[in-house]
Amino acid sequence: MLRHNFALPSNNAVGGTCLPNEQADSPSTYLCGNSLGLLPKRAAELVNEELSVWGSLAVQGHFSHPHGREWMNIADRVHPYLARLVGARESEVACMGTLTANLHLMMNLFYMPTSTRYKILCEARAFPSDQYAFASQVALHGLNPKDAILEVSPREGEFTLREDDILKVIREQGETIALVLFSGIQYYTGQWFPMKSIAQAAKEQGCMCGFDLAHAIGNVPLSLHDWRVDFAVWCSYKYLNSGPGGIAGLYMHDSWEGKVLPKLAGWWGHDPATRFQMPPRFSPIRGAQGLQQSNPSVLATVSLLGSLGVFEEAGMMESIRPRSITLTSLLERKLLESKWFVPVGEVAEKYLRGDNRPTEDSEKGRPGFTIITPSDPESRGAQLSLLFLPIGVGIMQKVFDGLLRHGVVGDERKPDVIRLAPAPLYNTAEDCERAAAVMETVLDSVKA
Ligand SMILES: *Cc1c(COP(=O)(O)O)cnc(C)c1O
Repeated sequence: MLRHNFALPSNNAVGGTCLPNEQADSPSTYLCGNSLGLLPKRAAELVNEELSVWGSLAVQGHFSHPHGREWMNIADRVHPYLARLVGARESEVACMGTLTANLHLMMNLFYMPTSTRYKILCEARAFPSDQYAFASQVALHGLNPKDAILEVSPREGEFTLREDDILKVIREQGETIALVLFSGIQYYTGQWFPMKSIAQAAKEQGCMCGFDLAHAIGNVPLSLHDWRVDFAVWCSYKYLNSGPGGIAGLYMHDSWEGKVLPKLAGWWGHDPATRFQMPPRFSPIRGAQGLQQSNPSVLATVSLLGSLGVFEEAGMMESIRPRSITLTSLLERKLLESKWFVPVGEVAEKYLRGDNRPTEDSEKGRPGFTIITPSDPESRGAQLSLLFLPIGVGIMQKVFDGLLRHGVVGDERKPDVIRLAPAPLYNTAEDCERAAAVMETVLDSVKA
């Protein structure tokens, strides 16, 4: 149990006004690590140490450092952890930049449309930043997003994608697809896509295959190298707890070593042996780290390093994942016991038809909810996405505000979804039980 390694916001701080005074300073029930992970105390210590080294040594901190963390090599401290988290070799990962910028960088390398093979295959309703990136990359090549972006949608009456449907599109349209680019875990539904099968099908059709791991890294075990994924990108402020706007990362399969060269080079991708001799010709580091452009934010990097120390102490994903499955299953079980729960199969068809009534026999306007995240633990990570009914009448907002008043922090996706994510490093079984109990109280009091 590693909860003591984290700073937990109090009930009072998150707006828990319904709670008795003596609970004001107790930790809130924070189930929002899918959006912003909590502060690891070690991250705060490391950031403070770096501020103090900056104050005492200034520029010399790059090469000489009282804690042995010379700034010049700071990203190398993180690379071994990133490699283990994504299932890659150290030479295949780089700690750098920000997620959307890294996505553009990798698409610049791996999206190489030709007149016949020019499409990007992705999930429908990908995270907006990714959609904007896809559309602008396509436009950069003079193509029309309407034609060049191919989206796989859930079947009518369903919320998540079927593996067969994804693979079928790849098999049938593979020759026109330049790049298959899915998220690892879908931010809205919480679906963990069958990454290995997607990568295999893409490679069989001669497509490039990339993943956005924003919601997958530090959440589920990954084996990018063995799955032969060409590239991946991620941010580190969600399950990796590196802090708001933390430093991101990328992966490139080492089969691309020497074949794909940095096209948008910067000095930090240059061989460190001669970097400070400032030679006029760029000589990249082999592998993913040759893609580094700028010297990384040291404060952001050590903050991430502090968090990765907790992952290490926890035994990395091999130990974290089983605990995660237990917690998420517990939260699910408790929610399924609710008298307001409606099975997803009963909801989906009506929801998609725009029918506001959750079930035939329910009173009109009666509130309820369903879980749109897959029930199979192999198809999800730590997150459950709850869809509130009737849709479009503001139930979700009332529930969300009610949860906060009871010190339960979830994450709202307007208009109708609340995401709850028990993060295995700091959430407990009590958190899951309490969240479900509070949800019941709140729904009991909500009037449609
Ligand atoms: C969180 C998230 C982002 C955020 O992008 P930034 O560049 O870090 O601001 C982008 N894409 C996905 C899929 C996300 O989940």
